[in-house]
Amino acid sequence: MRYTTLLFDLDNTLFDAASCEPVAFEYALAKGGVAEPNQYWETFSEINDALWGAVVRQELTPNEVQARRFGDLVAAAGLAADPGLLADEYVVGMGAYGELYPGARDVLDRLSQKAALGLVTNGLGEVVRARVVRLGLEPLFDAIVISGEVGVSKPDAAIFELAFEALGRPAKPTALMVGDSLSSDITGANNFGIATCWYNPARKPRPDGVSIDHEIVALNELWAVGS
Ligand SMILES: [Mg+2]
Repeated sequence: MRYTTLLFDLDNTLFDAASCEPVAFEYALAKGGVAEPNQYWETFSEINDALWGAVVRQELTPNEVQARRFGDLVAAAGLAADPGLLADEYVVGMGAYGELYPGARDVLDRLSQKAALGLVTNGLGEVVRARVVRLGLEPLFDAIVISGEVGVSKPDAAIFELAFEALGRPAKPTALMVGDSLSSDITGANNFGIATCWYNPARKPRPDGVSIDHEIVALNELWAVGS
């Protein structure tokens, strides 16, 4: 393998977060006694995306997103529900629902025999830990670094530094960051000074301003990238 240290993003790279989130949302609002929860999904999604954008700009922490997003939703939609309860139940739902993309586990299995694998994710500790346990990911990764636990988020180089520490300080030229997000994964790896692989299944056009060393539309293409 050309790269012997592979760092992975979780949401929308290995894990189908896009299909987990509406299910978790429906679960949380039903728990909170809100009728027809689906009608509020779009509003929540906009609030949530904007708050996570502020995390990437280092204006908010993941835990602040968690505290605010349902308060903002209740206010925006005029719901008679307890935002704290909705927030707590959403965390439960986010940990309990959703799957890895088809084939992702197989790719991780095979790569883990050739390289050290790290998971570097912007998320809440409770959510990610529940997923890691439920999906049996722990044995596949040599390090799991979650922004909500360590207090720094991608694209800050500091979160990559923590992953490198946990992996026994590999040489930077041996390492590759694999992720779907230009603003957190690719920019973060650029900031830290390691190679990047943009997971781009939608085949979006390549932007200016970020350094992309490899681009894949399917995870099993990582074999070609790494060899
Ligand atoms: Mg992602």
